[in-house]
Amino acid sequence: MTTRWIVFAAILGSTIGSFLNVCIHRLPSRESIVWPRSACPHCRRELAWYENLPILSFLALRARCRTCHQPISIRYPIVEALTAAMFAGAAWYYGPSILLVSRLLFGCALIVLFAIDLEHHLLPNAITLPGIVIGFVFSLVADPGWQASLVGIVFGGGLLYAIAEAYYRIRHEEGLGMGDVKMLALIGAFLGWQLTLLALMMASLGGSIIGVALIVTKRGGMKSALPFGTFLALGAALAATVGPGLLDWYLGLL
Ligand SMILES: [Zn+2]
Repeated sequence: MTTRWIVFAAILGSTIGSFLNVCIHRLPSRESIVWPRSACPHCRRELAWYENLPILSFLALRARCRTCHQPISIRYPIVEALTAAMFAGAAWYYGPSILLVSRLLFGCALIVLFAIDLEHHLLPNAITLPGIVIGFVFSLVADPGWQASLVGIVFGGGLLYAIAEAYYRIRHEEGLGMGDVKMLALIGAFLGWQLTLLALMMASLGGSIIGVALIVTKRGGMKSALPFGTFLALGAALAATVGPGLLDWYLGLL
């Protein structure tokens, strides 16, 4: 049962990954994610079913469109493989449960937000706002419980809003956008306030390290640093996986 279950999860994950690619490609330009069918972004030709197979089509087509021979972005197989790995790992770790569904929905949202923020410096409301509601609804019947989720939403969103407001008052420019605020509220809804604080700390640490590295290697100043949502996504993924163990260890030290 276990091996079959994990293989099934991986195959399902690669298919969901294909759909996440559609979201990543279409949400920034506010296109529908259900219609029309997938097409080559260069020559606009509709793709046949065998050109739409997760990972396999990319390899078989050697990363080029069959008709116009324009390159296909490496993002497609990466997102599909990452989603497959996430589904397999979570299926193995959580087993069939409501928490598994909750964690997978959360993970899918993080992948889409990461990719769109990286490319467009944008965190679409179409993901963050329904995500907050869905995370809270799941908390009624699974971890972290509705109280922790509610505090997570208010605390996560409120804390980042306060930081953004303070930064704006001091520097008179926008350091964090409202997208980041809504994204941390989303993380709070799914993970509860403790892991949300951990996610924010890890995101800030990661952002600072990369920021300093960019300045030291003279690749750019603070302004050209990567968007904060990408770090929030990585921080939240870490908090959701190693966070509970890390918190236990830390509280054991006290
Ligand atoms: Zn084409």
